[in-house]
Amino acid sequence: MAERIATSLSRALRLRCPRCGETPLFRGWFAMAESCALCGLRFERAQGYFVGAIYVNYAVTAVLTLGLFFLLWGLTALSTAAELALVLPLVIVFPLWFFRYSRSLWLALEWLINREP
Ligand SMILES: [Zn+2]
Repeated sequence: MAERIATSLSRALRLRCPRCGETPLFRGWFAMAESCALCGLRFERAQGYFVGAIYVNYAVTAVLTLGLFFLLWGLTALSTAAELALVLPLVIVFPLWFFRYSRSLWLALEWLINREP
C-alpha cells in the first residue's frame, strides 16, 4: 500500500497519468487532456469531477498563507498591513500556479481509492 501511495504521489507531482505514469496530464498551463494517450484513462470521470481539486487548491493555499502570516507575525515586527501586503500576492499567484498540481493530486487520490475507469 505504501508503495502504491508513493507511486501515485510521484506521478501526481510529475503531472503524469496516474495509471501508467507516462503521458502528461496537461497540454498547456490550464488545458488538460481528456484522456491518457497511452492507457486511455479518462481524466475527467464525470461532470464536475474536479470540484474536489478546488478544495485541494484552497486548503493548500490557506495553510501556506496562514502559516506564512503567522510566521511573519512571530518572527518579525512588521505591522499587520505590511504582512498582508507580503502575503496577499501569494494568495493570488499561488492558486494559479498550483492549479495543475491540485488537479493532478485529486486525480491521483481518486485513482488510489477507486481504480474504475
Ligand atoms: Zn495512462
